[in-house]
Amino acid sequence: KNRPKNLTDMLRQSVESYPQREALVMNGRRITYLQLWEKAERMAGNLYVFYGVRKGDRIALLLSNSLEFVYAIFACARLGAIAVTLNTRLKEDELSYMLNHSGAKVLITDEENVAKIDHLRKELALPGISHFFLTAGETTLNQDYLPFEILEQKALAPDTEVSEDDALFIMYTSGTTGLPKGAIGSHLGAIHSAMNYEMVLKTTHQTKTLIAVPLFHVTGLIGQLLHMIRVGGTSVIMKRFKSELFIRLISEENITFLFNVPAIYVMMLAHPDFPKYNYHSVNCIAYGGAPMSEDTISALQKAFPGVYLHNAYGATETSSPATLMPQVYAKSKMHSVGLPVPVADVKVVDSEGNPCRIGEVGELLIKGPMVVEGYWDNEEANRKSFIDGYWRSGDMAKMDEDGFVYIMDRMKDMINRGGEKIFSVEVENVLYNHPKVLEAAVVGAPHDIYGEVVAAFIVPKAGAVVNEEEIRGFVAERLADYKVPAYVEFISELPRNPGGKVIKTKLKELWSKSGSNR
Ligand code: ATP
Repeated sequence: KNRPKNLTDMLRQSVESYPQREALVMNGRRITYLQLWEKAERMAGNLYVFYGVRKGDRIALLLSNSLEFVYAIFACARLGAIAVTLNTRLKEDELSYMLNHSGAKVLITDEENVAKIDHLRKELALPGISHFFLTAGETTLNQDYLPFEILEQKALAPDTEVSEDDALFIMYTSGTTGLPKGAIGSHLGAIHSAMNYEMVLKTTHQTKTLIAVPLFHVTGLIGQLLHMIRVGGTSVIMKRFKSELFIRLISEENITFLFNVPAIYVMMLAHPDFPKYNYHSVNCIAYGGAPMSEDTISALQKAFPGVYLHNAYGATETSSPATLMPQVYAKSKMHSVGLPVPVADVKVVDSEGNPCRIGEVGELLIKGPMVVEGYWDNEEANRKSFIDGYWRSGDMAKMDEDGFVYIMDRMKDMINRGGEKIFSVEVENVLYNHPKVLEAAVVGAPHDIYGEVVAAFIVPKAGAVVNEEEIRGFVAERLADYKVPAYVEFISELPRNPGGKVIKTKLKELWSKSGSNR
C-alpha cells in the first residue's frame, strides 16, 4: 500500500481492498468499510452544501463513543475541517472555554451530553456556533437541535484538496497555566502513528480490537480506531468501559488486539467473571497512557500466556506513540517503554538543554512527523513547549545503550489518574477561589486501580470552619469528576522553599504518612 495522502485516502485504500469487511461494530450494528465510506461522504456533502462547512472550519464533537463519532471524524477529514474532540467528562465552564477558544462553528452532541450544551446555550455562552446537531435519541425530539440523520441525505461534497500537513483535530490538554491548550494534530501525524502501530505490532486486516477508552483521546482515536482503518481491521466499540461487558465482548467477538490504559487491565483482571471466559483469540496486548505496575504486568502475562505485552509511551502532542515496545524485547526490557517509533528523533537533555549520556536522566524531547504542529492560538505555550522542532514532554527519562527509553519521573506538575491527566494548578486555582481557603496545593496520591488520584492540602483562613465534603463539592461544580480531590487534608501551613515555592515532594511524604492511616 502506498502512503496515504490524507485520512480520506487512507480510508479509501481499505475500502478498495476490503469493501465488505466489518470496519465498525457497536451494539449489534455492523458497518462495513463501504458503508463507512458512504456515511462519511454523505455527511461531508451535507455539512458542505447545507451548513456551509469549509476547509479549516472547526467542528466540535461532544460525543460519547459512538458510530456517529467515527462518521464525523471522516466527514471532517474529507472536507479538511478540523474536529475538536471534547472530553465528555468536562463541566460547562471547561467546555465553553474550549468551544469559544477553538472558534467552533458546528457542534455535534448526543443525549447523554446535551444538558451541558443546553445550559451554555441558555446563558448565551456559545455565540460562535451556528448549528447544533443531536445524534439519534430514542426519546428526545429536541427542537433546538438539528437531527443528526439529516446529515445522511444525499448531497455531494466537491473535491477538496487536503494535504497531509492540514489539521485534522484539535484536542485540548491541561496546561501548566491552568488554561487548557488545544494541540493541533495533522493528517500526517495520525497516518504516521497508525502506520507505526501497524509496523511494530504487526497488525493486519485480521486484527480486531475492542475500544473501551474514549475516542476523544489519542489512544482510542489513533491507537485503535485509525490504526484499524489503516490495516483494514475491525473496531468493536463500547460506549464506555464496563468490566463485565468488556470481558464478554473479548470472548464473543474474538478480539485479537487489546490496547488500554493500565487501570482498565486492573479492573478487568479483578472482575469475578474474568476466569469464566476464554480469550484464545487475543494475540497482542498494548498498554500506555500511564505506567503499569509490575503486579499487573505479571497478572496479564499469566492470564494471556504467550501473548507479548507492548508498552506504548506517548502523548496527545505526539499523536499517540513516541516509543513502542517491539515484540522480541517485551520480556527482556520489561521496564522500558520501548524504542522511538520509526523516523522519530528522541533525545534526553539536561536542564541546560545539553544531551545526556547513556543512562543519565533528563527531560525527554521528541521530534518527528507525528508531533503536533503546536497549540491553537497560543503563542506562549508554543514558545515554551517546542524547541528546535522538538516537543518538550515534561517527562524525565533515560536511554540505555540499545536506545530503549525508560520513563523515570515527571517534571510537569501533573497527576495521572488512570490515564486522565490533571495539571495540579487547575485544581489549585479552583481551590483558591473557595471563600474559606487561604492556601491550597494538590499532589498525586497512590491508588490501586487508577495509579494516582488527586489529594488536596488546604490551609483554611483564620477562624474558618470547613470540611472535606464542602471542598469536594465546590470543585465538583466546576471541574470534571476525575479532577475532584479524592482526599482532602487540612494543615496549618504549606511547606515552602526559600523562594516561596510549595515543596510538593514534602506534601507527598506527608500524604504517605497520613494517607496510610486511611
Ligand atoms: P490519551 O490522550 O489517549 O490518554 P496519552 O496518555 O498518551 O494518551 P496524554 O494524556 O497527553 O496522552 O498524556 C501524556 C503523558 O502520559 C506523558 O507525557 C506521560 O507523562 C504519560 N504517559 C503516557 N504513556 C505512558 C507510559 N507508557 N508510561 C508512563 N507514562 C506514560
